[in-house]
Amino acid sequence: MSDLKSRIAHLIAVQGPLSIAQFMTIALHDPKEGYYATRDPLGARGDFITAPEVSQMFGEMLGLWCAQVWHDQGAPKRVRLVELGPGRGTLMEDALRALRVVPDFLEAIEVVLVEASPVLRALQAEKFKTAGVAIRGVTHFNDTLIDRPLFVLANEFFDALPIHQFVKTERGWCERVVTADEKNELKFVLAPVPAQGLVNTEAELGAVLETSPAGVALAEEIGRVIATQGGAALFVDYGHAGGFGDTLQAVAKHKYANVLEHPGAADLSAHVDFAALSDAARLGGAKAFGPVEQGKFLTALGIAERAQKLGPQTNTQLERLVSPDQMGTLFKALAIMPNGTSKPPGF
Ligand code: SAH
Repeated sequence: MSDLKSRIAHLIAVQGPLSIAQFMTIALHDPKEGYYATRDPLGARGDFITAPEVSQMFGEMLGLWCAQVWHDQGAPKRVRLVELGPGRGTLMEDALRALRVVPDFLEAIEVVLVEASPVLRALQAEKFKTAGVAIRGVTHFNDTLIDRPLFVLANEFFDALPIHQFVKTERGWCERVVTADEKNELKFVLAPVPAQGLVNTEAELGAVLETSPAGVALAEEIGRVIATQGGAALFVDYGHAGGFGDTLQAVAKHKYANVLEHPGAADLSAHVDFAALSDAARLGGAKAFGPVEQGKFLTALGIAERAQKLGPQTNTQLERLVSPDQMGTLFKALAIMPNGTSKPPGF
């Protein structure tokens, strides 16, 4: 048994069952054995592949989207371009290269990479050593990021944030928690006492409700900064616009794995609830657009024309990003804008 699994079982023995959110936090970020803390998970030899790793066109489109919105807001002189969970830094690298056609924007930005993983932080620092643009790395979204117009990009970031699950029972919504048996194997059980404050009369018995307090808090904070300072955020992820269902999943080596079996060895994620993120951004005072399907979004931004220019070798990449049976409809984009602004490009 892995050391991390026994440590989790020990923690449960002394403090009682863990919420799924606590379990995810430890499995992903434990400094010694956490999944993200100890590896670069991306790419063919890793555990999963993301849109920026599929094609340079993805980062190019998102970078130019920011420059367009910046221009529409009167091209402010000092702004911040922040990426949440930049992974290998591929999206930002492609964005900055595409943005050479908008030198005024490059001159106006401070680039900030928000990354929890020390392994990926080191990889990003290496990649951007010679970028020619001011780039700063931070471990979480903090108060040094709130005093200027803020442009935020996040791809497959919110799905990695910890979630809670609640199951509708005759007593009410009971939280699904993680406990350990006498052999230190982990298993799910329902908390006997219903959670306070969750009322939904429509859900059927057995329905699963997921919440992401970390994601919601961050969306509200980003909404607040954008509402007061200007700027825009673009969140791209797989997910849905509200509703019920158990979407927690583990992935290792490009295959689904058991969520509880090998903490630290598999990626854990859940579908993003875009309705919850939009509501949070509105609470922060901003306006939310979308979600729109990734395929429609990228097509409206001109990705097909870009592919044609790059040559036929990009056909399969284009297909992968926009086609409905690949990433085109499961993945969606949500934009957060200052109140009173009209629809941003692609929405
Ligand atoms: N955006 C990249 C990587 C996606 S994987 C891409 O599209 O290829 C998720 C990324 O979010 C990783 O870089 C991971 O280390 C980071 N991450 C996960 N949880 C985080 C957290 N709580 N705070 C900051 N970064 C986090």
